[in-house]
Amino acid sequence: MTVDSAKIRPFRAPRDEPKTEDDKMLDEPEVCPKCYGSGFEVVPGKGARPCDCRRQRTQTNDFDKVRIPRRYEKCHFHNYRPASPSQERAFKFASKLAMDYPAVDRGLLLMGTVGVGKTHLAVSILKGLTERGVGCLFYEFGALLKEIQDSYNPSTQTSELKVLAPILEAGVLVLDEIGASKPTEWVRDTMAHIINSRYNDQKLTIFTTNYLDERRSERDETLEDRIGVRLRSRLFEMCRTVTIVGEDYRRKLDTKRS
Ligand code: ADP
Repeated sequence: MTVDSAKIRPFRAPRDEPKTEDDKMLDEPEVCPKCYGSGFEVVPGKGARPCDCRRQRTQTNDFDKVRIPRRYEKCHFHNYRPASPSQERAFKFASKLAMDYPAVDRGLLLMGTVGVGKTHLAVSILKGLTERGVGCLFYEFGALLKEIQDSYNPSTQTSELKVLAPILEAGVLVLDEIGASKPTEWVRDTMAHIINSRYNDQKLTIFTTNYLDERRSERDETLEDRIGVRLRSRLFEMCRTVTIVGEDYRRKLDTKRS
């Protein structure tokens, strides 16, 4: 997920076109048709009982705590459609990790160009684990750095430690878009602190990055260029690297519709 792409709303078909499965998936009913928002469903002859939507709301609250961005709320393994062998492979590793946790010794580093579904898979893992009661957290790495920087400001009344504590304590953490922030010394030190602390505490971390290990052109920067040799090497130790190759899914949807 990029800062620019965060501004893009999900694609929706114009009203007079038949809805695709993706559109249906993104549609949210405004009021529960069973309880009309009361939280209780009236069962003829039996009286009132708590409505299913209450359970869903509790689950939504859990997902809020995980900080999954709204535009990824509907992402799950069941609506990830692998379109290339590498996507198939990434899907297998991601779903296996979600199934096997806590019996896993390494996280994942999902690597690939924009729009191949890295964040979708990372969110799917968090959702699967949250449903099982595992304490998870999602952070876009740039946003995390900004929160840490802001915490230096006394007017925000947040200390740096308070911001960092949930990051270091989460059972499973997704750090989305590592390498995207300008690689200053402070950024690298902060990243090293987070990664090393979690590694030492044997906590699982899942990373996504748009940077690859190989340069495709001379001007290309690699993940190592962005985060440094030592951190890249640490990631080799603590994660399985899974490279995803494919088209930008958003562009593919757009092309299909035009
Ligand atoms: P990346 O993190 O690789 O840049 P995203 O996970 O943000 O890509 O994917 C961009 C959008 O495309 C998201 O809305 C995501 O749900 C969707 N998407 C990407 N790949 C797939 C796929 N294989 N199946 C279903 N949806 C996908």
